[in-house]
Amino acid sequence: MSAKIIDGKKFAAHLADNIKGEILQWVTDGHRAPGLAVVIVGDDPASQVYVSKKIKMCEQVGISSSLHRFSADTGQQELIELIDQLNQDPKIDGILVQLPLPGGLNEEQITERIDPKKDVDGLHPYNLGRLAAQSPLLRPCTPRGVMTLLENINVDLAGAHAVVIGASNLVGRPMALELLRARCTVTICHSRTRDLPKQVGQADILVVAVGQAGLIKGEWIKPGSVVIDVGTNRSEAGHLIGDVEFEAARHRAAWITPVPGGVGPMTVITLMQNTLQAARNLS
Ligand code: NAP
Repeated sequence: MSAKIIDGKKFAAHLADNIKGEILQWVTDGHRAPGLAVVIVGDDPASQVYVSKKIKMCEQVGISSSLHRFSADTGQQELIELIDQLNQDPKIDGILVQLPLPGGLNEEQITERIDPKKDVDGLHPYNLGRLAAQSPLLRPCTPRGVMTLLENINVDLAGAHAVVIGASNLVGRPMALELLRARCTVTICHSRTRDLPKQVGQADILVVAVGQAGLIKGEWIKPGSVVIDVGTNRSEAGHLIGDVEFEAARHRAAWITPVPGGVGPMTVITLMQNTLQAARNLS
């Protein structure tokens, strides 16, 4: 068997065209363009790349973006004051603070300071709680992007056994909640999980979000399954690679996402969807 490739890059480009059209209509109807404020602290190279992709996509689809750059030694209070100001700004519909923040800053306090109505990353406890309570408003971008990919390949989720590897607030936990909401039977694995190969072998739908290159061996994959690799790691040669042994896994899975070009572009496009959603909700 050779898996079909889930081309997130191509699908995200298609969605970008749709959102561009929706925003054009929104503006034609007399609204201002949705506004997204992006906050970046420090000079982590990966964060710089992610932020520039987000800003570029805003330009492409017609979202008005503003970038707030801070040095790594910025104090907590300065960021809190900026968030308060953005919360009050009537031209801003979405606020995104690029994570992780440099050590010394309290991420939790900053995330919770964002007005949940402008929380386009969907990471405020209010929005995570809404997802847990099965009435989501703004949903975390990467898990929502994965759900959009799964819907697009028409896989039958109800009753499927979904195994999520990784339990972070950013990806693993909300991913498990999304899959549960789609009526999967969900197993969540983390660093203390016993017998990872056995858990992986049970997965009809496998979502991996750990950040360890090649952690998931191809031979563990259940034949005919759907494999979604969220992990992004740098190989020794400097290439972007996932958490799953792609070449071995593609001979067992029915569907598989590549890295790069799988989940990453979906995260960015989902941020655009969330920003438009926030603008609609706020108007
Ligand atoms: P994180 O906060 O470091 O969480 C990693 C999770 O993996 C934790 O729950 C950890 O368990 C678990 N884990 C660690 N070692 C494990 C092992 N040996 N077996 C099973 N689970 C293990 O990372 P994150 O922020 O969720 O990100 C995960 C990966 O996704 C990273 O590579 C990141 O770059 C990538 N990512 C990609 C996108 C995208 O758009 N493509 C978006 C976000 C993140 P404990 O809870 O026990 O510590």
